[in-house]
Formats: sequence, structure tokens, C-alpha cells
Amino acid sequence: MSEFSNESVIAIETTLNEVDRALERLRVGTYRACQVCATPISDADLIANPLLSNCPAHPELA
Ligand SMILES: [Zn+2]
Repeated sequence: MSEFSNESVIAIETTLNEVDRALERLRVGTYRACQVCATPISDADLIANPLLSNCPAHPELA
């Protein structure tokens, strides 16, 4: 474990948390909805970033 920098571990954990949240949104049916205003996120944006959780008007806050 000590071979890995703290930054690498944090980056991996952040990505895993984003995947978890995306999967949870898929399960509850809010995957496409912006977490701020509930506007559906476009296919193009989701294809570009499947973990996107906010519409373009509300860039990632979390
Ligand atoms: Zn929004």
C-alpha cells in the first residue's frame, strides 16, 4: 500500500464513489436527471461522460 501515493488512492476512491452514485441513480431512475435542477442530461453528454450527474448549466459540484 505504501508504494501508492495518497493522491492516487484518493483519485481512485473518488472515481469509485462516482461510479457508485451513477449506478444508484440508474437503479432509482434518476440517472439522466441533473442533480441540481432535474433537467434531463443529453445523450451526447452522457456518452462523453457516463458519470455525469449535472446538466451543462450546473457543472459538477461534487
Ligand atoms: Zn441543472
